[in-house]
Amino acid sequence: MKPFLLILSAPTGAGKTTIARALEGARVETVGFSVSATTRPPRATERDGVDYLFLAPEEFERRRAANEFLEWAEYGGHRYGTLSAEVDRILATGRHVLLDIDVQGARKIRERRDDAVMVFILPPSVDALLERLRDRGTDAAADLRRRLERAVHELEAIGDYDYIVVNEERNLAIQEVAAILDAESVRRERRDDMVEEARSLGEALRKVAASMPVSGGGS
Ligand code: 5GP
Repeated sequence: MKPFLLILSAPTGAGKTTIARALEGARVETVGFSVSATTRPPRATERDGVDYLFLAPEEFERRRAANEFLEWAEYGGHRYGTLSAEVDRILATGRHVLLDIDVQGARKIRERRDDAVMVFILPPSVDALLERLRDRGTDAAADLRRRLERAVHELEAIGDYDYIVVNEERNLAIQEVAAILDAESVRRERRDDMVEEARSLGEALRKVAASMPVSGGGS
């Protein structure tokens, strides 16, 4: 079975990072999380190389110029990018690649790879989104306004996506994304081995049939 890229995007505050990490934890054998590079400073709980690869702007630029990114985008005044080597490393282990990236990055990956499955996570309501956005960052009104405007812009990208999951109840949302992963894993075009299997099965059956007497009439 061919592993593929599973992209999760969402308007800020819809809870996609929690879903991505929970899914990764539940599927360690079959899914790897693509750790992005960023120029944004780490938050208190974040670890370098685990949550992000935290890079100085010059180092990010050096890698960008060296063509090391599958995609990169500017978000909230910082740069974020998916390293091609990170994606290839996970695929080489036979696992699917889980990407938690913004709508611009998702669009770029779709243009470059035909093995990307795109899932959009929606917050259950305006109130829920507002609450999560307020919880995050500073309370400065201008800051909140910027996050809201960004969320409006992100929501407009929903048409690019293959699946929509509403994060009303976290565990249910995780289950839904897991179900998408499972269904996409058994798509015919990712199962060259099984197509081959069906062919030899047909061949074997043809031989058995040929050894049998021909019946007269009927269907
Ligand atoms: P945060 O700073 O809150 O961790 O992430 C801000 C936004 O950047 C989120 O929407 C997140 O999904 C997105 N992001 C994280 N990594 C990447 C990446 O490698 N590429 C792109 N395009 N967006 C990313």
